[in-house]
Amino acid sequence: MGRPLVSLVLPFRNEAAVLPATLEDLRLLAGHEDRVDFEFVFVDDGSSDGGAGLVRLAAQEDNRFRLVRLSRGFGKEAAMTAGIRSATGAAVVPMDADGQDPASLISRFIDHWLDGAQVVLGRRRSRANDTWAKRSSARAFYWLFNRITSVQMPPDVGDFRLMDRAVVDAFLEFPERERFLKGLFAYVGFEPVVVDYERQARSGGETKFSPWRLWNFALDGLFSFSSAPLRMWTYVGSITAALTMLYAAFIFGLAALGRIEVSGYASIIIAVLMMGALNLIGVGIVGEYLGRVYLETKQRPLYIVSEVFPDRRQRG
Ligand code: UDP
Ligand code: MG
Repeated sequence: MGRPLVSLVLPFRNEAAVLPATLEDLRLLAGHEDRVDFEFVFVDDGSSDGGAGLVRLAAQEDNRFRLVRLSRGFGKEAAMTAGIRSATGAAVVPMDADGQDPASLISRFIDHWLDGAQVVLGRRRSRANDTWAKRSSARAFYWLFNRITSVQMPPDVGDFRLMDRAVVDAFLEFPERERFLKGLFAYVGFEPVVVDYERQARSGGETKFSPWRLWNFALDGLFSFSSAPLRMWTYVGSITAALTMLYAAFIFGLAALGRIEVSGYASIIIAVLMMGALNLIGVGIVGEYLGRVYLETKQRPLYIVSEVFPDRRQRG
C-alpha cells in the first residue's frame, strides 16, 4: 500500500532572500518523514525578484516541488486558493514561505492526522516577536470578530494548519471572490486538534503586510462574515430619533413657558453636525456591502495562472 500524500502550499511574493532556506527546510522534512509522501506547491503571487526561478530549479531536480505562477500579484488569499486548488494530497498544509511557519512542526501535524484528526491547527505560543501595536490590534480584532459573526476563530491561529481532503473539498466549494481564508476555514468547521508552537521571526526579507494593509484585511474579514455593522444602523437611528424626541419635548416645554431667550446656536449646530456624521457613517457602511455585492456579481476569476511547472495551464 502506498503512503498517503501530503501537499504543502506556499504562496510567496518577493521572497528570493528566504526561499533557499525554505526549500532546504522542506527537503530536510521530506528526508526524515517516512510515513507520508510530500508535494510542495509554491505559488508565485507576482514576484519580481526571480523567486520563481529558484522554485523552478528545485522542481527540475526534485519532482516533489511544483510551481504555480500567477500572471500578476493577486494577493495572498487568492494565491493560497490557487495553491490549495491545485494540490492533490490527501491532506493539505498552507504555510508561509518566509520561514515563520516551521516545517519541523509538520511531523506533529501528521501524527494527529494519522490518528484521525481532520483539522490540526498550529497555534503560536506567544506574540513576543510582534510589536505592541500588532499584538493589541490582533487581540481587538479577534474579540470583535468572534462577537459579531457566527463563526468562532481561535485567536493566535493563522493559516498554518493541516486539513484533511474532506475539509479541503468543503473549502473549495466556496464560490465567493472576496476571500478571508482564516474565516472560511473556521466556517467549514470540523473538530480541530491544536498544536502549540513558537513562531519564529522572519528569516530574511520583510513583511508584505503594512499596518494599513492589515487594517483593510481586518475590515475584509469583518464585513465578509458579519452583517452586524449594517444592521447596527437601525438601532443607532432609532435611539437617536428617540433622544431627539425627548429633547424636542423639553425645548417645546421651555418655549411654552416663555423661557427661550434667542440664540440656540449651540444646540442647532451640534444636532446638524451629529446627524450629518451619522448619515455619512451609515452610508459608508452600506457602501462597504454594496461594494462587495458589486465585486461578487462580476464573477471574475479569482486569479489567473500564467505558468505551472512542470505541468499544464489552468484557470481559477
Ligand atoms: N504573500 C503573498 N502575497 C502577498 C503578500 C504576502 O503571497 O500579497 C506571502 C508572503 O510572501 C509570505 C506569506 O504570504 O510567504 C506571509 O506574508 P508576510 O510574511 O509578509 O506576512 P506576516 O508574516 O508579516 O504576517
Ligand atoms: Mg511572515
